[in-house]
Amino acid sequence: ALPDDNPLLRGLNPEQYAAVTLPPQASLILAGAGSGKTRVLTTRIAWLLQTGQISPGGVMAVTFTNKASKEMLTRLGAMLPVNVRGMWIGTFHGLCNRFLRAHWKQANLPQSFQILDNGDTLSAVKRVIKGMNLDEERFVPKQVHWFIAGSKEDGLRPNDVVVHDGQSQKMVEIYQAYQDQCEREGVVDFAELMLRTYELMRDDPLLREHYQRRFRHILVDEFQDTNKLQYAWLKMFAGPQTAVMAVGDDDQSIYAFRGAQVGNMADFEREFRVQHVIKLERNYRSFGNILDAANHLIGHNSRRLGKNLRTEAGPGEPVRVQESASDFNEAQWILEELQQLHRAGMHRREMAILYRSNAQSRVIESALFNASIPYRVYGGLRFFERAEVKHALAYLRLIENCNDDTSYLRVVNFPTRGIGARTLEQLQDAARQSGRSLWQSVGAVGGKGGANLVAFNALVDSMRNETHGLTLREIIEHMLQRSGLIDFYRTEKEGADRIENLEELVTAAEAFVTQEGFGKDAIALPVDEHGPGQIADGSAAGLPNAVAAVDMTPDAETGEIMSPLAAFLTHAALEAGDNQAQAGQDAVQLMTVHSAKGLEFDAVFITGLEEGLFPHENAMSDADGLEEERRLMYVAITRARQRLYLSFSQTRMLHGQTKYHVKSRFFDELPETALKWLTPRNQGFGSGFARDYQAAWQRGSGLNSVVGAGRSSGWNPPAAPAMPPVPASMQASAAKAAGHGLRVGQGVFHTKFGEGVIVTLEGKGEDARAQVNFGRHGPKWLALSVAKLTPVD
Ligand code: ATP
Ligand code: MG
Repeated sequence: ALPDDNPLLRGLNPEQYAAVTLPPQASLILAGAGSGKTRVLTTRIAWLLQTGQISPGGVMAVTFTNKASKEMLTRLGAMLPVNVRGMWIGTFHGLCNRFLRAHWKQANLPQSFQILDNGDTLSAVKRVIKGMNLDEERFVPKQVHWFIAGSKEDGLRPNDVVVHDGQSQKMVEIYQAYQDQCEREGVVDFAELMLRTYELMRDDPLLREHYQRRFRHILVDEFQDTNKLQYAWLKMFAGPQTAVMAVGDDDQSIYAFRGAQVGNMADFEREFRVQHVIKLERNYRSFGNILDAANHLIGHNSRRLGKNLRTEAGPGEPVRVQESASDFNEAQWILEELQQLHRAGMHRREMAILYRSNAQSRVIESALFNASIPYRVYGGLRFFERAEVKHALAYLRLIENCNDDTSYLRVVNFPTRGIGARTLEQLQDAARQSGRSLWQSVGAVGGKGGANLVAFNALVDSMRNETHGLTLREIIEHMLQRSGLIDFYRTEKEGADRIENLEELVTAAEAFVTQEGFGKDAIALPVDEHGPGQIADGSAAGLPNAVAAVDMTPDAETGEIMSPLAAFLTHAALEAGDNQAQAGQDAVQLMTVHSAKGLEFDAVFITGLEEGLFPHENAMSDADGLEEERRLMYVAITRARQRLYLSFSQTRMLHGQTKYHVKSRFFDELPETALKWLTPRNQGFGSGFARDYQAAWQRGSGLNSVVGAGRSSGWNPPAAPAMPPVPASMQASAAKAAGHGLRVGQGVFHTKFGEGVIVTLEGKGEDARAQVNFGRHGPKWLALSVAKLTPVD
C-alpha cells in the first residue's frame, strides 16, 4: 500500500511510483520492454503539472515517433484538464521545427522555410551532382545523402569535415554546394533541423539562457537511441536548474547503424550527475510465453547491462510458428489469420504485421488490398508519397515560397506547358551563375521557352493572389483547378484514382485543420473508463485526436504564427509516413520493426524470419551487427500483448528475384516450450541446410541466384511461384526413405546443368523428385529416377 491515494498514481508499482515522484534532479530509468517506462514518463509530467511544480510551458518531452508524441498528448489531455496544444512534446525533429519557426530570423531562415523529406532531399542532392557535372556512378546520390546527413549528425559543416583524399574532397564540395542550394531555396532537411537548432542555441547566449531557465523538466523517452548530435542538443537545452529524466532500454538500441550511441547512457550518468537510477522489472504488456521468448532470445547477446523481465499475467497462448512455401503463401496465410482474429472480435488496429525491410510489405499489401482489408502502412510513405499528391503539394509550396526550386522543377512543366529540357537547363545554368532561385532567373531565358516560363510564374502569382484570405480547403481546391492538375488527370487513362487521391488531399487538409484547432478550441477527449494511460485510440471512435503534430508557437519577435497552409505543408513533410487517407478507419497496421518501437498490439506477426533477411545479410558478418539484429528481434517480440506469430518462407521474391531462404537462426534461440508449430517442424531442413547455405553464401556461390523474372510492380496479385509448394514435413523424411542417398543442402553435379545444390526432396522410389538450384540455370525440378545426379561433396 502506497501512502498516496492520488488517482494519478494509483495502480503504479513501487518502483514506478518512485520514478514518477522523484525530486527534480537528474535521473535515469533503465528498464526492459513493456515495463511502463513511457507510462512513467507521461504520468510524471501529469504529476508535476497537477501538483503545481511546473506549468505546461515549463516542460519538454522528447519522444521517438510522431505517433508516440500524439499518444502522450492524448493521454495527458485525458489525465488533466490542461490545454496540451502548447506543450513542448514531440520528436526531436518536431521540436526543432517548433523552435526554428519561432526563431527563424536568428537562425537565418526565411519565415516560410519548408522541410525536405528524405525523398526531396535525395532529388535535391541529385540536382547538385548534376549541376557540378559529376558522375552519378562515382558519387552515388544515396551515398552522398548519407554522407551529408552523417556529417550533420556529427555536428560537422563542410569546413569541419576532415578530408583525406580526392574523393572525400569532392564529397565535401558537393556538401557545400548542396547547402548553398538549400539556403537559396529556403529549405531544410531533417538533419539540418537538428543542427541549425543546436548551433543557434550554442551561439546565442541569451536565447540559451532563456530556454534553460524555462524548461524546469526535460524528459527523454527511448534514450538508448539518441545520437551524438541529439545528446549535444539536449545539453544545450538543459540548464543548471533543469531536471533531466532519461528513460531507456539498452536491449532495444536499434539505431547504432545511424549513429545512435548506447554510450550516451553512461555519459549521461556522469555528465548530468545522475542522482537516481531506477530499474523496472515487471512487464505489464505481454503474457508469459511471449516474455519467455523475448528473455531467452536476448540472453544470447553478450554486451548487456543486464535486466530481467517478469510478468504476473500467466503463460497465455503459445507463440505460433508458421512455415510457408513462398512469400505469396505467407501473405495468404496472414490474411486468413487476420480474418479469423477479426471474426473473433479483435479490432484490426490491434493487429500488426512487422517486417525487417520495407520492400517486404508489397506482397502483404497486395494481398490485403485484393481482399479489401483496410490497412495502414507506417514509414512506407504511402499517401503523401504518391506522385499526384507530391505534384499538388509542390504547387502549394510554390504559393507559399516561390524560391523552392525542388517544387519549381517538379511542376513547372506538369501538366505540360511547352517547357522542354533545354529551356530548363538554360534556366538552371542562369540560376547557378547568378546564385539566385529558378523563379528569379526566368528573365534570363529567351525564346518561346522563356516566355512559357514567365507565363508559369504568372500562373503561380495569380494562384497566390486569388487564394489570399481563403481557407486551407478553398486554397487547395482552387489550386487543383487552376494548376490544371485535375483536368490533366481527367484525360488520363488511369486518372480516376489519382483524382481521388487529390480529393483525398482536401480531406486530409480538412482533418488537419480540425485536429490542429485553427480558430477552434481543442477538442476534449473523453476519459476512458479504464483510467489514465488506457485511453482508446480516439481516431478509431471517429473522434479527431486533440493533438498538435505541428506547433503553432508564435514568432518570438512578431508573435506571428504560421499560416494554415504553411502548417499543413510542414505537417505533410513531417508525417509523410502516416497515411492520413485512412485516419479514422479500423485498419491493420503494417510497419518495419524499427518503426514499431514503443508501440504495442494485441496480435503481432513477425514475418520473413529468414537468414539474410532477419538477421539481415548486411549485419550477419560481424558480432556487433548480429547483436543489433537480435535487439531488433527483441523489440519485435515484445510488441505483442496476447498473440505472437513468427513466420518464415522457403522462397521469396525480392527486388524482382526469387530467393531461397532458410529459417532464421533466431528460432534456435527461442525456448521450444513457448512455441507451437502450426506447420510441422522440420529439423533436418533448418540446421543442416542452414550451415551449407551459409557456407555457400560466404563463398559467394550461386545458391542465392536469380531464378525468376521480375514481377511487375503495381497492384496486380503477385504471380504464384514457379515451383509447386512442398509441404515441409515431406522434405526431411523423404531423404531418409527415398533410398537415393541424397539430402537437402547437398552439392550435386548434373551433366547438362552443371553444379547445383539440392533445395527440396520429396516422394519415394520411382516418384522421388528433387528441386536443385543450379547457379546459372536456376532451379529445376528433377525426377531422380531419370536425372543422373552425382554428389560432389
Ligand atoms: P517499451 O520499452 O516497449 O517502450 P515501456 O517500458 O515504455 O515499453 P509502456 O508502453 O509504458 O512500457 O507500458 C506497457 C504497457 O503496460 C502499457 O499498456 C501500459 O499502460 C501498461 N502498464 C504499465 N504500467 C502499468 C501498471 N502499473 N499497471 C497496469 N498497466 C501498466
Ligand atoms: Mg516506451
